[in-house]
Amino acid sequence: MSMFIDRDPLLLTPGPLTTTLRTKQAMLHDWGSWDAAFNRMTGDVCRQLVDIAHGADTHVCVPLQGSGTFSVEAALGTLVPRNGKVLVPNNGAYCARILKILGYLGRSAVELRFAEDQPADPAAIEVALAADPSITHVAQVHCETGTGILNPLADIADAVARQGRELIVDAMSSFGAIDIDLRTTPITALVAASGKCLEGVPGMAFVIARKTALEAAAGNCHSLAMDLHDQWAYMQKTTQWRFTPPTHVVVALHSALEQYAEEGGLPARHARYAANCRALVDGMAGLGLRPFLAPAHQAPIIVTFHAPGSSSYDFQAFYQAVRARGFILYPGKLTEVDTFRVGCIGALTPLDMQKVVDAVGATLRDMKVAVGN
Ligand SMILES: *Cc1c(COP(=O)(O)O)cnc(C)c1O
Repeated sequence: MSMFIDRDPLLLTPGPLTTTLRTKQAMLHDWGSWDAAFNRMTGDVCRQLVDIAHGADTHVCVPLQGSGTFSVEAALGTLVPRNGKVLVPNNGAYCARILKILGYLGRSAVELRFAEDQPADPAAIEVALAADPSITHVAQVHCETGTGILNPLADIADAVARQGRELIVDAMSSFGAIDIDLRTTPITALVAASGKCLEGVPGMAFVIARKTALEAAAGNCHSLAMDLHDQWAYMQKTTQWRFTPPTHVVVALHSALEQYAEEGGLPARHARYAANCRALVDGMAGLGLRPFLAPAHQAPIIVTFHAPGSSSYDFQAFYQAVRARGFILYPGKLTEVDTFRVGCIGALTPLDMQKVVDAVGATLRDMKVAVGN
């Protein structure tokens, strides 16, 4: 028997995410880019974003149109001088993307490889910096969404600071859910986006940059659209975005941040995602599905699972059948091992995770894949 109702599937992905009705309803208006009310909203959003990282005394927020990668590229292109050199600790797909961006930008890069199931090692980073004084910056992914691993950001930041270098952090999938305290953690710039743990819709990202570093970055950038210094200077002068702002995305984020505060801010968001992650991992264990990472390295953001070993398993068929039950999963990103990923973030609760587990179990039984321990 096939059943169908016209309802949005739940997104168990690292973004775009399932958002609340209130966030979606915030987008039911049109806004002018010159309008003072809209520009106040942008200013409000930026202040709240800096506050989430406790950076009000030292850092400023520069929003930028586009997906998260646009802001990673803008941060690297603006903050790294053309003769700079960037160390990239690499334990996954988003670290590899940073290396690719640096190649496009013509900035020198040094890769420091780690296994995909191992966090980046602060001591190894410090040794690499000490060995090469020409390295000016480190570009570190906080939660490597390719696997879901959490890199030890505070220790890495201390190591980079001891060596007197600058640190640019891709905190895309952790910002708002995993605490980053700019008062105690020396970070030049943090990059994140509207459509991840803040539970806005995708379409803008932002860079929380140390004001002195941003001021010193005038003229570094090779690209007008990606020049964060220019974007910031224009916004300071006019309160407006330099080019057409993603108005609906900004007002949705404004509403999402209101709801974030009502929920209890970062501690509450972290607790909900951690509960989601536990419900997911425990439920999948009941189906005999094992996470790729050791529990100690797992961030409560997205979980990579080993695919079932059965010959009747096929990801495409599995994905389609789980989707038909109302849930969108995510393919694995590892080349060596067959995996799939399930996100813990978005407007979801542990009850939703239990339903996902039920849908996965029913699907695997239909596919004649053995489930259960
Ligand atoms: C989502 C994400 C990005 C940005 O990806 P986009 O597809 O450009 O939004 C960058 N880094 C990490 C770690 C991410 O999770």
